[in-house]
Order: sequence, then C-alpha cells, then structure tokens
Amino acid sequence: MSFYWVKTHSILKKIFSKYVWDLPNEQNKVYLTFDDGPTPEITSWVLDLLKKHNAKATFFCIGKNIEQQPELFQRIIQEQHAIGNHTNDHANGWATTKDLYIKSVVACANSISKHIISNTNLPTSLFRPPYGKIKTAQINALKKQGYKIIMWDVLSADFDLSITKEKCLENVISNIQSGSIIIFHDSVKAFPNLKYTLPKVLNFIDKNNLQCATVS
Ligand SMILES: [Zn+2]
Repeated sequence: MSFYWVKTHSILKKIFSKYVWDLPNEQNKVYLTFDDGPTPEITSWVLDLLKKHNAKATFFCIGKNIEQQPELFQRIIQEQHAIGNHTNDHANGWATTKDLYIKSVVACANSISKHIISNTNLPTSLFRPPYGKIKTAQINALKKQGYKIIMWDVLSADFDLSITKEKCLENVISNIQSGSIIIFHDSVKAFPNLKYTLPKVLNFIDKNNLQCATVS
C-alpha cells in the first residue's frame, strides 16, 4: 500500500518552505504539471488535449527520455509549454549520493539544452525531484546553481494502480484551487488513470474559470 497526501497540508508547506508547493495569484491560474516524459503517443495525446483547451502546462522531463524522443520534446517547447528537469534517470535522492544526484541533474540539463531550438526562454531553472525524495545537501547544491525546487499542491495519484480512475479524478477536482500545482504523469504506467482524468479535469477548469499557466 502506498502512503501519500493527495492535498499537501499547509503545515508541511511551512516546514518545507525551501520548496515551491503552490503559486498563489489573483488571476485564478492553476498549474498542470506532467512528469516522466516525453513518452511516445502519451505525451502527444496530452499535447493534443491541452491544445484543444488552449491550456499551458509544465513538463518535468527525464533526460534519457528526451534523448530517445527529441521530436516530441521539441513539440512541447514549440507549443509554448514550460520544461523542468526531472534528472537524467529518475534518480531517487534518498538512495543517491549528492555528487551522483547532481551529475544526473546536469546530464538532464545538458539534454534539455542540446535539444532546444533557439528563441525560447529556456534552459530551465525548474527542478522536480523524482518521488519527491531529495536530501538537504542535494537541495542546497541545486539552489546554489539557481534551481527552483517545484513540488505540488495536488497529487492526482495517477501512478497508483490500486485506485480507481474515478478516485484519481476526485483527487484533483475536490482539491484544486487558484494557485494549485497539480501533478500528473505522461507515462505508460499512469496512462489508464490519466486518460480518464485529464479530459474531465480540463473541462472542470474551463467551467470554473480557472486558467492553466506554466510554472515560472
Ligand atoms: Zn517522476
């Protein structure tokens, strides 16, 4: 059984104030984020749907996946979504030394730079630790390099195959509010839940006059 909070508690946000958990604003902006891509077919399905809703999002990409899917990666940029670093190989910070962890982040940053076509405001300073697991020394090293550590306010738990797709949807729509950072995965594993949930979340966002914006 997995243990996680669907809605990040305000006390936790205060204790871990080195992280960005949400982005309060007065324009009803919400921030959809997609981790672990780019993934063939799934990322393009997400991009098509976002386009239909005129919604912008942030993709926390894995370096190795960028190398395997450079065209898909470029499509994300061309459609004016934001890119974040999610390490080169989905490193677990708690099980990795600081040096190896930073190496993995740098390798991902190099892939991002290598595959970016000019006239964008990238490379990115956004970083999301895989599994949300990162040690203080790693955080400090990344902050020194100018990275913002982006966590989340609402966890769809689309990766959790023990929940129903209806529960995944409920996780999002009962917790989303202006300023929320919502986490999804454009991965094979999460797709059964994502496929059901994302179209309904985007309809919910439209109906409630929320605006999907990129994390910056
Ligand atoms: Zn991940």
